[in-house]
Amino acid sequence: MRRNGSPCAFGPARPLWAAGDNREMPHNRLLPCATSRPYTGAKKGRPRNCAPGIPAKQETERVSQGKTGRGAVDILMYHAVTDGPPPLDDWCYMPAQLFEAHMATLRRMGLKVMPLSDAVMQLLDGTLEERVVAITFDDGYANNATTALPILERYGLPATIFLVSGILGTARSIWASRIIRALQESKRPEITFGGETWALDGAKARGRASSAIQNIVKSTAGAAPDTAAEAVEIACDTEVNPDFSGTDFAIMDAAMVKSAEAGGLIEFGAHTVSHPILSSLDDAALAAELGPSIEAVAALVERPSPVFAYPNGRLQDFDDRTIAILRAQGLSAAVATTEDRNRPGGDAFRLHRWGIGRNCSALRLAATLMGARSLPLVRRLAG
Ligand SMILES: [Zn+2]
Repeated sequence: MRRNGSPCAFGPARPLWAAGDNREMPHNRLLPCATSRPYTGAKKGRPRNCAPGIPAKQETERVSQGKTGRGAVDILMYHAVTDGPPPLDDWCYMPAQLFEAHMATLRRMGLKVMPLSDAVMQLLDGTLEERVVAITFDDGYANNATTALPILERYGLPATIFLVSGILGTARSIWASRIIRALQESKRPEITFGGETWALDGAKARGRASSAIQNIVKSTAGAAPDTAAEAVEIACDTEVNPDFSGTDFAIMDAAMVKSAEAGGLIEFGAHTVSHPILSSLDDAALAAELGPSIEAVAALVERPSPVFAYPNGRLQDFDDRTIAILRAQGLSAAVATTEDRNRPGGDAFRLHRWGIGRNCSALRLAATLMGARSLPLVRRLAG
């Protein structure tokens, strides 16, 4: 996929950045999948061999290379799915029509789509026998429940949503939403931020500015992206309405989470409290972003995912301290944003994901899942 104009604030690695539980593992050998029966989830509790404050056993650190496991997992990472045109063509915001085309493509290809937790746990214990796909959404946008979920239900496809617990149920949104909205609404002809200047004449120019400024914030703001977003608002001479309710930027609330989980196709995992770059935090701040977010998700849902999602998710965006805390919290794995297929022998706390943005055509998705994404012909045809 071209990493062009609209890298997402929380997505995979693009130029400066590229884009973003606790329970008993499902060890049923006949794990549910989209092509068999609806996902019913695992029992609530701590992962096997994991207790609060006690790191999981070392074998969970590496994906098993067991005798029988021949499978692999392609994990797809989405963010928001919008009914109307995406705000400023942002990479993270996918029109519903395109999302539906993606889901139809998965079905047409006959791929087995599994809940992420089940797919990862089978990969970990070496019992995954085939290549499967798992669908994930980062940040917990309300439109995941209102727009994406009905499409998932139509196709019977399970998915995992990673929540930013600090904004869950509030009218606030992720810091990147503030930047997009400030650039949408600014009356200035241009904006200067971080020593660079962008013209704001037209939606495309504003989209380019948004993308570039988000990348600067991701690279420089570290632990305080909201403060940086405020600085962008000042540079835009725009007082952004902090109430994002009812917009494409809105975040889920507890009722939406519970309702989505009750439907049986959706599971939820943790994605920090405030979505900072974890490697930029000191030990105390790091602990305050991880434990409370994992606990908040566990308190909210019946079947919290044992898989965590790192904000931004490049390898430099988290570190061994992060992984140690996740393991001590009883989690079994974590997803990054490095793009590749997950095979036996990989690192359970550095699982790869394919970043799927609004510039990913259905053909491009199919090529990715066929392992042909980087072929020149595919790049030319599929964007
Ligand atoms: Zn994220």
